[in-house]
Parts: sequence; structure tokens; C-alpha cells
Amino acid sequence: MKKIIFSYLLAIISVGACAQNQRSAKGHENNPYYSITDTTKLNVSNAEWKKVLPADLYAVAREKDTERPFTGAYWKSKTKGTYYCAACGNILFRSDAKFASSCGWPSFYEPLRKNSVRYVEDHSHGMDRTEVLCGRCDAHLGHIFDDGPPPTYKRYCMNSISLDFEPDKMPADK
Ligand code: FE
Repeated sequence: MKKIIFSYLLAIISVGACAQNQRSAKGHENNPYYSITDTTKLNVSNAEWKKVLPADLYAVAREKDTERPFTGAYWKSKTKGTYYCAACGNILFRSDAKFASSCGWPSFYEPLRKNSVRYVEDHSHGMDRTEVLCGRCDAHLGHIFDDGPPPTYKRYCMNSISLDFEPDKMPADK
């Protein structure tokens, strides 16, 4: 009897986790690597990413393209919520750390967790910059600069297309 109850509980938990995943995985049905709960580091080839990501996201996330400023979905968004990696679902930023920047890309002064992102020196295009990558899947997110506001004085200058946004639920939705 105990075994039956245990299996039943396990089934409920699995369905719950799945539903939660599906909610934020909306639009990512073709991407088996997308998960907002799995934090396992991914090691997926570009050939494989090419099969599962939309072409415009692939160009930025895997080929380090940059979207045109003032064109992305989030550069001027002030909605409260959470930003995830659009390639793998890794949690990246909270809207609380977002600030109005005149650069035309969504800008944050800190990531949600230290290991949400990782950093690589980038000397491309004749500039010395620090590239910001997703800590889980290594997707190119953007660059970090030292001209941000307090408390960190950093500016995480991100491509909107590399981000997924989940607005906070209003009390009435709960
Ligand atoms: Fe990622």
C-alpha cells in the first residue's frame, strides 16, 4: 500500500514539474535542451543547436551576431519579471536589476546568480570587450561594460533575442 501511495505521489510531482516546465517552454517545443528547472551544464554542438533554434536566435546565440539597437523586444521594457536564456531556459536576470539605458539594448547591473553567466575576453571588431555567455549553454548574450549604475557600476548589455521574459504573476492570478 505504501508503495502505491509513493508511486501516486511521484506521479503528481512529475506532472507538476512538467506543467511548470511547459508553461515557460512555450515556443520551445522543438528544443529538447530548454528547461527552467534543469541546471546541468550543456555541451551541445552548433550543428545540433542549428536544428533546434530559430535562425535569428541561432545567429546571435551561437554565431555572436548582435541585434540592431532599439529593435529588440525588451530594451525599454519596465515590466516586472524574470529573464531566462532563450536558448536553454537558464535563469539569468530579474527586472529589479534592469535600468533604462540609452544604448538601445536591455541593460542590467547584475545577474540573478553569480553562475547564471560566464565571461570571456573578446577582441573581435578591433575592440577589447568582455563577452557574456549563458552559464548553462554558453549562448552569446551580449557584453559587460563598466559604465552601469550603482550598486555594481556594471552594465550587462544584452541582446533581447537571447532572452525570454516571464512577467511576475499578479496577486489575482495566483
Ligand atoms: Fe543558455
